[in-house]
Amino acid sequence: MSAVEPRLVLATRNQGKLRELRELLRGKIEGLDVDTQVIDAAAAGAPDVPETGVTFEENSLLKARAVAEATGLPAIADDSGLAVDVLGGAPGIFSARWAGAHGDDAANLELLLAQLADIGPEHRGAAFICAAALAVPGGGDAVERGELRGTLLASPRGAGGFGYDPVLQPLGEERSCAELTGEEKNAISHRGQAFRALLPSIVRILRDGALPGR
Ligand code: IMP
Repeated sequence: MSAVEPRLVLATRNQGKLRELRELLRGKIEGLDVDTQVIDAAAAGAPDVPETGVTFEENSLLKARAVAEATGLPAIADDSGLAVDVLGGAPGIFSARWAGAHGDDAANLELLLAQLADIGPEHRGAAFICAAALAVPGGGDAVERGELRGTLLASPRGAGGFGYDPVLQPLGEERSCAELTGEEKNAISHRGQAFRALLPSIVRILRDGALPGR
């Protein structure tokens, strides 16, 4: 196999997630050049996959399996969102489209704060949740979950991050997620945890061509 042949696809068009995954894999697998051999969905010519599942795990597996089959390469996908205790885990899998339009972060945040306007700090517990899945063409997969628990602030704070970052203050932190550096957030985030938990399976499939214990 030539050095530039891709070996792993990340089922996303989000360059931030691609960067994070490449950093996570860098130096972990002998002979793997993460910058050229770990590619995103667009570079792999993979289709957009509808998120028809009802859990983060189902959606991440759906995407990973579809992209693995379409490209013939092992594929990784994630699905994430915010689960608010007093809303019974909502917005959950609907986090990106809570206010209607998909990906309208400002409207989603405004609606959530309005819904929680009368709820005091002691009942504002919530968590960012992420499921990260790995699927191999022809069958075989693994999925891992990460959670970042915190408290929802009454109003947004900080200019970093995206989505609901300005209103989630992680447990033990004085700052909102939007006030943390990217590195600080990755170290504790739901996505960082899920990807790190998946790492042994990724290493195994790339090195040995098989998933651990399967
Ligand atoms: P997706 O997994 O990229 O589809 O993200 C789903 C939605 O969950 C995003 O649009 C955000 O609203 C929310 N979300 C997921 N992860 C984060 C995070 O790390 N910070 C803030 N919001 C997030």
